[in-house]
Amino acid sequence: MKALVYENELKLDANYPMPQIKSNEVLIKTSMVGICNTDYEITKGYMGYKGVLGHEFVGIVEAVGENVSTELIGKRVVGEINCACQECEYCHKDLQRHCPNRSTLGIWQKDGCFSEYFTLPKENVIEISENIDDITATFTEPLAAAYEILEQIHIRPDSKVAILGDGKLGLCISLVFSALNIDYVHIGKHEEKLAISKNLGAKTMLLDELKECHKKTFDYVIEATGSTGGFEISSSLVKPRGTLVLKSTIVAREGLNLASIVVDEINIVGSRCGQFKPILRLLEKGKINVKPLVSGIYGVDEFQEAFEKNAQKGTLKVLVKF
Ligand SMILES: [Zn+2]
Ligand SMILES: [Zn+2]
Repeated sequence: MKALVYENELKLDANYPMPQIKSNEVLIKTSMVGICNTDYEITKGYMGYKGVLGHEFVGIVEAVGENVSTELIGKRVVGEINCACQECEYCHKDLQRHCPNRSTLGIWQKDGCFSEYFTLPKENVIEISENIDDITATFTEPLAAAYEILEQIHIRPDSKVAILGDGKLGLCISLVFSALNIDYVHIGKHEEKLAISKNLGAKTMLLDELKECHKKTFDYVIEATGSTGGFEISSSLVKPRGTLVLKSTIVAREGLNLASIVVDEINIVGSRCGQFKPILRLLEKGKINVKPLVSGIYGVDEFQEAFEKNAQKGTLKVLVKF
């Protein structure tokens, strides 16, 4: 089968072996895959991962392992990416995303979905309704990661909220917050990207427009810049006793001044992957339009063009059709 494999370099292997289906797994035939910044970071050495890339997908169940109901065959599905042991303390508390024995689709010890077929444990797959199209379904994983913030913090109706960063991540958070009628300011560097939030009715602000008077005025600041400078700017916006939510995995490693965090007693919350079901409920009701975030759709044989497009300035989500 065709698979996009990273091992020192990224290449399309036309004869990659078909995955073996374990007894608790389903075999999925890929329909569409989204390119994520994590995929790009892996090609730069992130996690030391080698194997098939990809973790954002929609596909159709083709076959099932011996311990899985055959009813799933033929169903259109999305799937959570952390494959847990189901036996440890975290798994028993329904925190499979934190299972220390987990593998992660296309990121850690499990071949990803950037291939014609791949497998996932049956617990991970969720059938989706017909009124969620393939493009929208491919956004389930990044949107769930955005929704995760709301599982971690409680935003009150009168809370002052800012999202910092107008890339894919910041915009996914904006889509979710807007769908839930949260009042927020979206701050970023690019007028054309902030326009997506503006069209949703959100307040927007260019980074250049940030002034002294905006400092320490927000109860919650979501850092989603993916850049090293984002931490300092976002922490300066948080009120004393407020909360800073970190969504980027890249934060400054050197010269990080944490004194103001101590002085202002700021809560810091790290935030990663989220549950799929709440976001699928919003998508089913048509509450989120992901289309403004799509920068291109490519065929699998055009993967090089797709990755080039992904690396270009101004690009949001690039999708690959199988
Ligand atoms: Zn991702
Ligand atoms: Zn576990």
